[in-house]
Amino acid sequence: MTNLCGGILCTGHSHQVLFTVDDDRSSQSSPKPMRSEFTLFLMKGRLPRERRVRTAVLAILATGVAWASLGSTPALADPYPVDGGPDRGQHSYCFDGAHPMNTDVHTRALSTMANVDAQTAVTTVQHTPCRARTDVRFQQRPISPGVIGYAPCAARVVGSTDCDIRDVRVYWAEIERLSAHPKREARHTLCHEVGHTLGASHYESWLVNPDGTWATNSCMISGLADDGSLWTRSYGPHHIAHINAWFS
Ligand SMILES: [Zn+2]
Ligand SMILES: [Zn+2]
Repeated sequence: MTNLCGGILCTGHSHQVLFTVDDDRSSQSSPKPMRSEFTLFLMKGRLPRERRVRTAVLAILATGVAWASLGSTPALADPYPVDGGPDRGQHSYCFDGAHPMNTDVHTRALSTMANVDAQTAVTTVQHTPCRARTDVRFQQRPISPGVIGYAPCAARVVGSTDCDIRDVRVYWAEIERLSAHPKREARHTLCHEVGHTLGASHYESWLVNPDGTWATNSCMISGLADDGSLWTRSYGPHHIAHINAWFS
């Protein structure tokens, strides 16, 4: 199975899962087997950056994916904040009545925000209904084939690159189609996209994560992460440090 990236543009606020014919989805649903494959592949490289870029390029060639943002940017770059940054203060959220989440997704969105409160210095507050400047608008809606989550900025703060309002879109039907454990994947996707609303960037499953170790992962990993492990719905220390510094 090929489970790639990351967003067509890899801008850090969408992520896309691409599949070839899946011969063993249950074991592949964990990134660990894939990481082993890529780790072995990476052993062929010489310098860390060369390895990463070469791996990414070969992965693109293998799948025909156009990766517009690769360019000269180191693949492991961990920009913060991505796509502007959130406005500071309480991180408010609401459920967009125009794109309602089903119960399974809705409850996991609530758990995700509770986790933000628990894991970071950020305080979350729910607005019911959505207000003009609620920071996060949860939506369940189609995105595009192979894309299970997306967090576009809906409005910038006037006179700033900060994002005032960001949608968190979950494509539940596509999660059901692609994941062997859709509810677990919904939790991962929500954690991931909410992480983008906090300014965190994502990382590709075949690259070492921003915490610098293959042994640790976080929900900011791209692709599917649906084995239900705690890390699939948690942020890593590197991103937590960024988030706390931004909001402090
Ligand atoms: Zn992402
Ligand atoms: Zn960083």
